[in-house]
Amino acid sequence: MVSAPVLTRERALEVLGTVPDPEVPVISVVELGIVRDVEVRPGGAVTVTITPTYSGCPAMFEIEKDVRSALVEAGATAVEVRTVLSPAWTTDWIGPEAREKLRAYGIAPPGRAESGGLVTLTRARPPVPCPFCGSSDTRLQSEFGSTACKAIHVCNDCRQPFDEFKAH
Ligand SMILES: [Zn+2]
Repeated sequence: MVSAPVLTRERALEVLGTVPDPEVPVISVVELGIVRDVEVRPGGAVTVTITPTYSGCPAMFEIEKDVRSALVEAGATAVEVRTVLSPAWTTDWIGPEAREKLRAYGIAPPGRAESGGLVTLTRARPPVPCPFCGSSDTRLQSEFGSTACKAIHVCNDCRQPFDEFKAH
């Protein structure tokens, strides 16, 4: 065992990149795009700025706890988690690599979030491709899946139900 090196911003980001999203454990909170900024002061105190996916998302408490313990373990002397609600998080902040991981995990990645949400709501959505077999012959089963952030679809070809990470 080596003693923990001095915590740098790069190291802090690296550590945060290992903190999984509680709802989708295959992607980290960094890949999800909710970690907006990390500041490390010379004494080792860290300030993390987070924009929650949904305000009031119960997973935020878990994320904050996990972020704290990961940074303390990496040598942070103090951790402050700041929540910033504006600009609001959008699924567009999920990077391409993370989208692939979502698909591999069996969750259909979100489409592009569109401005003018009211128009989007009233328009029929194109079918979401099945993450298992790629078929676009799928149907929406429920607007609300295991969490408010996901919808449940069923594939008419391979018969598998799957979650869709809803774009917003
Ligand atoms: Zn399928």
